[in-house]
Amino acid sequence: MSLKKPDGMDECVYFTQRSLGDNQQGFAMVWVFRQNCPKCGKALMGKPRDKGGKVLVRAREYACPSCGHRAEKAAYEESLTANIEYNCPSCGFSGEKQMPFKRRKVEGVDTLRFKCDKCAEGIDVTKKMKNPKAKDF
Ligand SMILES: [Zn+2]
Ligand SMILES: [Zn+2]
Repeated sequence: MSLKKPDGMDECVYFTQRSLGDNQQGFAMVWVFRQNCPKCGKALMGKPRDKGGKVLVRAREYACPSCGHRAEKAAYEESLTANIEYNCPSCGFSGEKQMPFKRRKVEGVDTLRFKCDKCAEGIDVTKKMKNPKAKDF
């Protein structure tokens, strides 16, 4: 399996890459492609824009620029597929994975949890809060 990588951020609703583990010995890159509107299929769903055309990054919903169809943020994101490329911090295995983009709260932080295909250790990709340079969006 070789996962398709995004050519740019505007292809994704989510993209992050970070080190994992106590000694930063692991690594994960996670990306979620934008998808066509489930209603009209004519345009990519994205965050709505204000009247000046500026993307409302913090909006709690996604919208279709073609037909105006709207979807609640969490429910919509859970219908998408997360692509994961990782280096397990526990056993060093390098793997790829696809799973529903379903995050849950772990200690109050949105977390995407998956298991290493080799050692089955749980790997958490949490939303970065402390580092302002994090590539999350
Ligand atoms: Zn549409
Ligand atoms: Zn492992």
